[in-house]
Amino acid sequence: MSFDSLGLSADLLRAVREQGYTEPTPIQRQAIPTILTGADVLAGAQTGTGKTAGFTLPLLQRLMEAAPNGGKRHAGRPIRALVLAPTRELAAQVHESIETYGRHLPLTSAVIFGGVKINPQIAQLRRGVDVLVATPGRLLDHAGQGTLDLSQVEILVLDEADRMLDMGFIHDIRRVLALLPAADQRQNLLFSATFSNEIKDLANRLLNSPQLIEV
Ligand code: AMP
Repeated sequence: MSFDSLGLSADLLRAVREQGYTEPTPIQRQAIPTILTGADVLAGAQTGTGKTAGFTLPLLQRLMEAAPNGGKRHAGRPIRALVLAPTRELAAQVHESIETYGRHLPLTSAVIFGGVKINPQIAQLRRGVDVLVATPGRLLDHAGQGTLDLSQVEILVLDEADRMLDMGFIHDIRRVLALLPAADQRQNLLFSATFSNEIKDLANRLLNSPQLIEV
């Protein structure tokens, strides 16, 4: 099976080809067409399965399909997709994937995490960002400073949600959720390697009639 039958646009397929990928992985085969329908998704996937491209590719396509202003950049516009990740390493990795797969699209992205100066991040957010990848704590620092408009988020991704809960981020995640449009006004994607009761609670609160994907 090739990438061509998954419903991705020519610009995204070109980026995939340039990465040298010939076949989608099992999670990509399931996640890409499902996410493209606009459904909420609860996915069980370990790292190394190709899960990042599994949500990044359809996320970028959904943004292009719904692009206000034909996807043109302008400063001061709100964030359209938010990816939360537990660590700065994972956040940086997801951001790199978004840059790679989105390289032929007129969308901008940024990553913010703690442990580095906040001012350059603020300047970057001011210039306008379509897709923001963030760790929960630093995201809340920005929100507290009023430098972040999350009121128009169309797609929310929680990546490695089990690790975020293990690291004690549940309260931070709840505070982030309170800054977003209502859950039924956005598409919600939850990726987790394990499914504890805590993850199931979070999924129940966050996801509307989710499609289940397990590989
Ligand atoms: P992930 O599970 O998202 O961390 O991805 C693991 C690794 O697999 C990354 O280095 C990707 O570049 C690579 N990868 C993702 N999708 C594919 C694919 N369809 N074919 C070959 N490699 C891939």
